[in-house]
Amino acid sequence: MGNSASTSLKNHPIQQDYKITEKVLGLGVNGKVVECYRRSDSEKCALKVLLDTPKARRELELHARACACPQVVQIRDAYANTVKGKQCLLVAMECMAGGELFSRIQSRADCGFTEREAVQIVHQIASAIAFLHGANIAHRDLKPENLLYTSPDPEAKLKLTDFGFAKEVGRNKSLGTPCYTPYYVAPEVLGPEKYDKSCDLWSLGVITYILLCGYPPFYSKSGLAISPGMKNRIRNGQYSFPSADWKHVSSSAKDLIKQLLQTNPDKRMTINEVMSHQWISTYTTVAQTPLATATVLKEEREQWPEVQEELSQALATMRIDEDQKVQLKPLHQSENRILKKRRPELTGGKH
Ligand code: ADP
Repeated sequence: MGNSASTSLKNHPIQQDYKITEKVLGLGVNGKVVECYRRSDSEKCALKVLLDTPKARRELELHARACACPQVVQIRDAYANTVKGKQCLLVAMECMAGGELFSRIQSRADCGFTEREAVQIVHQIASAIAFLHGANIAHRDLKPENLLYTSPDPEAKLKLTDFGFAKEVGRNKSLGTPCYTPYYVAPEVLGPEKYDKSCDLWSLGVITYILLCGYPPFYSKSGLAISPGMKNRIRNGQYSFPSADWKHVSSSAKDLIKQLLQTNPDKRMTINEVMSHQWISTYTTVAQTPLATATVLKEEREQWPEVQEELSQALATMRIDEDQKVQLKPLHQSENRILKKRRPELTGGKH
């Protein structure tokens, strides 16, 4: 555990250790993130307040574990306090003063954002995913708003945050009754972690695509976030590399995107395959081809909230689909012949 401070939940009032301000750093679905200062050294931090629910505890626990990775926003301290009569979890994190990934790129319009810079960013994000997947954590909400820069400086680091949908995978923890133990489930449910993880790889594909051209691979023509038409385009993998914007982009970059936007999660790349992919493994020497990304992001900035909304919805849909996919059928509903044969001995011959 790289960050012992984050793992222990403190019960004394946070105000003893932090001065909390009114300044809002960002709004999230679960409330706001405000600026605060650590009293011991005046470090500026970001405070996220969550209602103390089992879900929030899970978010905090997984985020704390993920803090062993330098590409994850670090937790400084976490408290369980009563706020306005409600039991809350207060999470003080390092303050990411550099803002969101694409705001920073947008500000680069007119000063040459290149394919090499793009691949360096993809490499940073991929390293974070590699750590998480190696630690059996699927993030499942990998989107531009959750990728923040430490500072406005050119050498700032990009880090991943918001573990609100993160899930521990690869351990069949939820299999309670004897019928559901790993020995007896159908083969496709033996590797459910693959589906949760593959969601992060699809996101990586979408983010890589946007980094290289400034617009997303799937977009809704109706202007409605996740219209039925767009759902189909995502499901069928219908996207293209319009030549006006893509003709100078390396074929290696396009190859990575194709393998990440594979609609079948079984065929989609794993994070280890991404790390050894040619474009990623040679990230320091990729051609410095100028990209239109920054200019497109700037010109189309009014569209950006819609792009964000569409991505969020696509991820939400995927999480539901994947959760249903891995739902275990009770044995008596299973059509698996081997399971049918084994059923009498497993259930003591009562069926
Ligand atoms: P939610 O889970 O409610 O969506 P997030 O953790 O994503 O909340 O935070 C919401 C917003 O707050 C982010 O999009 C970002 O703009 C801002 N934010 C979150 N964490 C930090 C941080 N450590 N430093 C600065 N801003 C942050």
